[in-house]
Amino acid sequence: MRQLQWPADTDRPAGAAEAADRLLAGRLADALARPAAQQPVWPDAERAQDVVALLRRAAPLVTPAETARLRCHLAAVARGEAILLQGGDCAESFAENTEAHQRANLRTLARMADVLTRRTALPVVTVARMAGQYAKPRSRAVDAQGLPAYRGDMVNSAEPTRAARTPDPARMLRARAGAADTMALIRRLGRSDMPGPRAAGGDVYVSHEALLLDYETSSLRTDLSGPEPRLSSGLGHFLWIGERTRQLDGAHIAFAELLSNPIGLKIGPNTTPEQALAYVRRLDPHVEPGRLTLISRMGHTSVRDVLLPIVEKVTASGHQVVWQCDPMHGNTYTSASGLKTRHWTAVSDEIAGFFEVHRALGTHPGGIHLEVTGEHVTECVGGAQGPAEADLPTRYRTACDPRLNADQAQELTHVIAELAAG
Ligand code: PEP
Ligand code: MN
Repeated sequence: MRQLQWPADTDRPAGAAEAADRLLAGRLADALARPAAQQPVWPDAERAQDVVALLRRAAPLVTPAETARLRCHLAAVARGEAILLQGGDCAESFAENTEAHQRANLRTLARMADVLTRRTALPVVTVARMAGQYAKPRSRAVDAQGLPAYRGDMVNSAEPTRAARTPDPARMLRARAGAADTMALIRRLGRSDMPGPRAAGGDVYVSHEALLLDYETSSLRTDLSGPEPRLSSGLGHFLWIGERTRQLDGAHIAFAELLSNPIGLKIGPNTTPEQALAYVRRLDPHVEPGRLTLISRMGHTSVRDVLLPIVEKVTASGHQVVWQCDPMHGNTYTSASGLKTRHWTAVSDEIAGFFEVHRALGTHPGGIHLEVTGEHVTECVGGAQGPAEADLPTRYRTACDPRLNADQAQELTHVIAELAAG
């Protein structure tokens, strides 16, 4: 594996590796020439390019060997032999990137994994939304006050002033440094005699939404280990494409196609079985079990009707994807006080619907994807001890979407364990 010198080394003598570099550089350039949704307009393009050049010199955060190991684990999930548990903050923030916060989140994931593995007797693959989850897609370009929307700490600041909301490319460097600190913490928490990052309960892999292309293209190396030459991203083990950037003719899907990292794709309530199949063919052309995770986020009232024909069609095609339920993003609403929230019962019901679909079809309900923190926040309502709408302002701290707190997550884990074991 060599660092891809893109696009500088296009006229080196042709060997197999150099030919692969050239092919990939061309395909990457084609991908990036397509329309890319949700990208910031940097006020000073030259400065942004300088930052990108600096990012390219930083050491990768994860290794191709770790990514390959996750690929094997996800193949097991796709075959029905393991469970995928993914979770963490909606948006990491510079302020919350403390050891205490990241430890609390990892502890919550580890506890959930522990319950799930004990109740189902299946291994749990734990993937944190961590070490790079700093860029956010937004439904609207401006907020209620008419200011440019907050797009994650990697792009601008949540502070409601025009200056703070102006995209600043130097934030990509800060995000990258923050991600490196987080990775170092995860590795420190792991056992030094084991390869790769571990925390209590097993390996912990890191993931984020591959959204901001200036950042995502800054750590790519040629990977010849798979069925075709691909690019291994050093920025996270698992990367996903979000609901707002999954245009079939857009840059994000074309970029994801090139990666050797296992990839996820969010699919919302308007996804048709035909579209799902088109994504699967694009993103898993070699029919590799677990290469693609389809992350359904339909909303609890739609999941049963919308997901079933999708699972049916994809399964009939012979592709073995990981089916993962994100019960958060289709169930968001604005409370009377104006705070975005989600009801525990709706979250729980979407998971129940996801399991019903898979039980009906005999397929494996292999994955859960949550926005969750180990901190005692009051962001989602409900659950046995959970806050009511009136309590939301007490500890509402999220930089973006509302997260389940540790108690709500634990209660949900028992519901999931019951469904998965049953
Ligand atoms: C997210 O996972 O935080 C997110 C923005 O999800 P989606 O793309 O499904 O809306
Ligand atoms: Mn979110």
